[in-house]
Amino acid sequence: MILRLDRIAIDLPEPKAPSPNAASAVQELMGGRFGEMSTLMNYTFQSFNFRGRDKLRPFYDLIANIAAEEYSHIELVAYTINLLLTNSTAQGTDPTKTPLASALDARNHYHFIASGQTALPVDSMGNPWNGSYVFSSGNLKLDLLHNFFLECGARGNKIRAYEMTDDPTARAMIGYLLVRGGVHVVAYARALEKLTGADLKPLFPIPDISNQKFPEARKLEDQGLHRIMFRFSPEDYRELSKVWNGPHPEDGSELVVEDAIPAGAPPPNLPEEPQLTAPGVDPEMLRDMMSWMENGKRFR
Ligand code: MN
Ligand code: MN
Repeated sequence: MILRLDRIAIDLPEPKAPSPNAASAVQELMGGRFGEMSTLMNYTFQSFNFRGRDKLRPFYDLIANIAAEEYSHIELVAYTINLLLTNSTAQGTDPTKTPLASALDARNHYHFIASGQTALPVDSMGNPWNGSYVFSSGNLKLDLLHNFFLECGARGNKIRAYEMTDDPTARAMIGYLLVRGGVHVVAYARALEKLTGADLKPLFPIPDISNQKFPEARKLEDQGLHRIMFRFSPEDYRELSKVWNGPHPEDGSELVVEDAIPAGAPPPNLPEEPQLTAPGVDPEMLRDMMSWMENGKRFR
């Protein structure tokens, strides 16, 4: 089971300006093959499908725990997309004024036609996220190799999305996810090392560019965020530390398990978009309905 908190992992800054095309690029980090929906669903299915858990508990704990963290990553990507799309068209309810005219030049029309200028489970080209992105072979070594590859691929996509937009919201999100994804790369490498005795240290980093090159990531690494595996459960996944230990392969700092999740921040409140009939509720009518229902309860 998942325990849900009404918070997101970091406090996202406001965008410099609305940017539907930056939002489109960021969609790759949501619903692309290497996006957060893929990491979430890969580790979720691998944890459901794990065989021999009693003998291999630390590896199960690692995969299940990272799956829970990935949920917080899809949230962060979604809110970045939502903030970038907010106010990206003219406001107003008169359709003859063509309030959505600016959407015509936006790369992803689904953001305006299928949603209320909000995130969708699609990639940067609007292709729906796809269950075939999930790899769950049942062979632990193979699954861990895949996860290592997936996190490195995800890192590559994040770097390229960062290079496409200088929007502060997108960059704050990507900086944070570069650091957390970096933790996952190291975690799966450590797991493979523990399981096989292989030395993966010379592989780091893939792609060959340090997180220190990204100011938003550097700030967080200077606070030690790249060394921390958060335990995303009040009581469980106690054997994480049997895998997550030893020196970090890049800077030699000590890897630590923290018995808590990130403090996070309240999710941004998204304003109404009347020209999109979103949310499409008349506040006065809603108030009347609520009081009518309240009274109904009282009379029963
Ligand atoms: Mn992630
Ligand atoms: Mn990850």
